[in-house]
Amino acid sequence: MTPEFILFHYDEIGLKGGNRSYFENKLKQNIKAAIPKGSFTSLRTVQGRLVGKLSERGQKHISGILSNMENIFGLAYCAPASRCPQNTDAICDQAFALLKEEEFSTFRITARRSGSDIPFSTQKMNEDVGAFIVDKLKKKVKLKNPDVTCFIDMFHKNAYLYIEKTQGPGGLPVGVSGKAMCMLSGGIDSPLAAFYAMKRGARISLVHFHSIPYTNSASVDKVREITEVLGKYQKGIQLYTVPLGPIQKRIRTETDEKFRVLLYRRFMIRITEALAKKEKAKAVYTGEVLGQVASQTLENMAVVEAAASLPMLRPLIGLDKREIVDRTKRIGPFEISIQPDQDCCSLFVPKHPATKARLKDVEREEAVLDVDSLVQEAIEGADDEVFYG
Ligand code: ATP
Ligand code: MG
Repeated sequence: MTPEFILFHYDEIGLKGGNRSYFENKLKQNIKAAIPKGSFTSLRTVQGRLVGKLSERGQKHISGILSNMENIFGLAYCAPASRCPQNTDAICDQAFALLKEEEFSTFRITARRSGSDIPFSTQKMNEDVGAFIVDKLKKKVKLKNPDVTCFIDMFHKNAYLYIEKTQGPGGLPVGVSGKAMCMLSGGIDSPLAAFYAMKRGARISLVHFHSIPYTNSASVDKVREITEVLGKYQKGIQLYTVPLGPIQKRIRTETDEKFRVLLYRRFMIRITEALAKKEKAKAVYTGEVLGQVASQTLENMAVVEAAASLPMLRPLIGLDKREIVDRTKRIGPFEISIQPDQDCCSLFVPKHPATKARLKDVEREEAVLDVDSLVQEAIEGADDEVFYG
């Protein structure tokens, strides 16, 4: 039996109340962007859920549509459903039509209703439909861990029946929280930070710093591949690749070596913020983790953050490497991230970097550099590219 509808359920509305239609519209846009054009003849908001009516084309692509929904933030789950009038006879017939195609020994009926105009209780519906199926198919009811569950959602004068749910990733629809920049290094951590930004509704743009021609182009190739993977969560991701080499050369010749990485980072932040302005982004995400490397002590993060004016957000701050590895594997780009590259931060790095730098010492070193024009030059040398996933 080919389903005519897909029901989309969300379980959290960001900031609640008045934001509801904003949230629902973004979710709709994101769903539409992730499926072939013309898959639905309509996509409506009905009593706290979305109802998509499948076109012939949509019915043909249904398994692809459902698997894409696994990456749409804001979705709790979706389900291909068939519809019938809201009366017991019609619902019994529809449940029978659905279940007779399944192989199972035990089942349960789980009815739900929205709105107060429905004249029968869900308990009564469960019992009536259950008895009908027992009689017709000679199967057993089992409330705990049945082989199949037939769900009946009743709203707006209709009943929608389904037996399969595709879990969504939860979170909030990409875009409802505004825009943010994510600093993407090519390692394991920063793609996960970008994932968490999108998961809570931020629309992201990515920035990667490289040291070509002092290094090869491996890190740029990697971040392009990582961005493609992240494109399954957000259609159309802007990636900026920015040359840091000329700035690093100046830092190497003109400042104390133990502050080098911190000075690199302060420049990265300033450049990222300049791009954020262009993008109207309101925060900067990084993949930093407390204590992971010398630049990620509380003291050194404070020294870097002092160069920032936007909030710096570090969604991985409390995770262990093992947790990060597991999660990066789950979201996709792990195998790309572990490929060897020449990270710009390891260019000209001293044996003994400062682990507890003081801001005034770093600022004194930085004072010999013409910060604004170096930032400007780097931005002029940046490339940008949009990935559609
Ligand atoms: P990652 O696994 O993301 O590379 P890491 O453990 O290697 O992180 P660092 O190299 O200290 O840690 O980088 C910390 C954070 O700074 C990164 O997660 C990223 O957000 C940002 N960052 C570092 N290098 C770059 C770069 N070349 N381009 C853009 N952002 C960078
Ligand atoms: Mg790194």
